[in-house]
Amino acid sequence: MLINPVIVERSAETEIGEEGCLSIPEIFGDVERPMRVVVEALDRDGQTYRAEVGGYKARAVQHEIDHLDGVLFLDHLSAVKRSLLVAKWKKARKGKKGYIKDVTPEPAGEL
Ligand SMILES: [Zn+2]
Repeated sequence: MLINPVIVERSAETEIGEEGCLSIPEIFGDVERPMRVVVEALDRDGQTYRAEVGGYKARAVQHEIDHLDGVLFLDHLSAVKRSLLVAKWKKARKGKKGYIKDVTPEPAGEL
């Protein structure tokens, strides 16, 4: 169990692997990530611990921690590749329940 996980070390060696995401189903992209990471988190008793993970688990941990930081695997791709995939996804989802409408964000204004 990882509570409030933070990546504290990343290997210099990276690896490219295909990723998909249940948040944006049916599209996949190749993402380059460190092969090994050290994660610091709290356990169920609130104690801090560190774990080093590699391989597929390292990719999964990085992907999931990205979600906590508001980052999708698409954000790791080039702008061109990302727009192509999003267009493909929108086309595939058009008319289906759960289709996300395009919106124009409004300026936040004074805070
Ligand atoms: Zn995901």
